[in-house]
Amino acid sequence: MPPSSSIEDFRKVLYESKSIVAVTGAGLSVASGIPTWRDPEGVWKTYDPATLATPMAFNANPSLVWQHYHAMRERALKATPNPAHLALSLLCVPHFRATVAPSAQFTLATQNIDGLSIRALENTTQKYRNSFGNLTEGSEADLSPIYEVHGRVLDTLCTSCGHRENSTTSPLCPALAMSDLGNVNPSIPVENLPHCLRCGGLLRPGVVWFEELPLYSREVWKAVDEADLCLLIGTSSAVQPAGAYAYEIADRGGKVAVFNKENCESDGEWHFSFLGLCEETLPHVLFGIGSSDV
Ligand SMILES: [Zn+2]
Repeated sequence: MPPSSSIEDFRKVLYESKSIVAVTGAGLSVASGIPTWRDPEGVWKTYDPATLATPMAFNANPSLVWQHYHAMRERALKATPNPAHLALSLLCVPHFRATVAPSAQFTLATQNIDGLSIRALENTTQKYRNSFGNLTEGSEADLSPIYEVHGRVLDTLCTSCGHRENSTTSPLCPALAMSDLGNVNPSIPVENLPHCLRCGGLLRPGVVWFEELPLYSREVWKAVDEADLCLLIGTSSAVQPAGAYAYEIADRGGKVAVFNKENCESDGEWHFSFLGLCEETLPHVLFGIGSSDV
């Protein structure tokens, strides 16, 4: 049977759910001006991003990899959360989640490195705190967790001491500013690249590369093991680990709903599918509101 696109039926499942896991991918952030990593911009069109996102690439040419991530940091700094991020942030706040899923826990696992899901939650709590008082009934700890399983492009990670830090400074060092002009200098001396203020070691972008393990695996799998509803958003179930989470939840009798621009073959076996731009479908399907109302 093909997936249902009945909002009414989905809302019943949502309302009765006890534990929801949302897994988000690149499609979530496209409306915020973050191109998918398969769709590079400007000077980076001439490079295959997959060849820049490995530990081996960084070891071979840290200057080239840093310039690529400098461009991504710049984009993330300029971007703002879109209605899809904001709709999901409403699910993180008990006050709003109770209106559509009164008995449910919620966990968000994002494969995106732009930090926009966290910023959306900050925006939402700030926006509504004055109107509704304390949204979290006690503490920030009542907000649902957001796991950025591929790290954050605005984090740096020291290759020597392992210190991780979030930094909105741009450029991180003067040598990286040149790629703003559309130039790439693959041979910036290592000593001119970003270094750790604690130990002096070379910093790398704080993201998870190919050949590396995702972050928060234990926490996300624990949530998946308890979930009875999976929302796959802006990602296909052909992509791992998103697909593995969905199959695990469906195998135990849970429901899976896909929110994506287009169907992929493996999405055909899920229970619900809402095709379209997720900045439009998510506010509407989850909360019955327009994208300008989140
Ligand atoms: Zn260090």
